[in-house]
Amino acid sequence: MSEPRTAIVFDADETLIDLRPAVTGALVAVLEEMRRWTPAAAGVSLANLESDWGAVFGALSAAPVQEIRRAALARSLARAGLDEHLDEFAALFFARRFALSRPFPDAVPALAALRPRHLLGLATNGNSRAERCGLAGQFTFELYAHENGLPKKPAPEFYAAVVTAAGLPPERIVYVGDSPEHDVVAAQRVGLRAVWLNRAGLPRPSGLIPDAEVSTLADLPDLLLDLFGRP
Ligand SMILES: [Mg+2]
Repeated sequence: MSEPRTAIVFDADETLIDLRPAVTGALVAVLEEMRRWTPAAAGVSLANLESDWGAVFGALSAAPVQEIRRAALARSLARAGLDEHLDEFAALFFARRFALSRPFPDAVPALAALRPRHLLGLATNGNSRAERCGLAGQFTFELYAHENGLPKKPAPEFYAAVVTAAGLPPERIVYVGDSPEHDVVAAQRVGLRAVWLNRAGLPRPSGLIPDAEVSTLADLPDLLLDLFGRP
């Protein structure tokens, strides 16, 4: 078979990987452990832990995700006087978060359907390593921000690294993701094509013009035949 002349590159979190239940489950485990350690944690809620992420994210958005999560956990632990035990609680959080990380049901079947015709890549800002999230061996290349000096999306250098890894002209590469800003606008800015995965059926943000929009990854194989032509 000839070498694929197109590459499909995926965002990880909320595109291929159902991150929310994993993070929620990990936060619940942290909260239960806090309550085992001290009665002072009785007044701390899951909503508090969730809001602590939002409170630190803005100031740290360019930092590695693990660092942002540690800062959020530190804030949560301080609510119950447990801030000296950040390392133990961070270890618990990440163990649960990865143990609970799963691909969406449409992910692996879509990758299997695409693989005969396209080079497949993973390129993420986060720490959802393929092999820790049920996607081992699925990709020709994997790029993780903060490894080998790779900056996070939406830096143009992130997508330039995608182009280099794919070894194809930008217009032969499709980036697929759930974030209008990171996965569509910023990818298109460097010449990639972009598919917006809109699982929730959200209204399209004004000015957003993805090359295509899908509500499920199951629609990708047909869509890409339309974008690149049928054999
Ligand atoms: Mg995402």
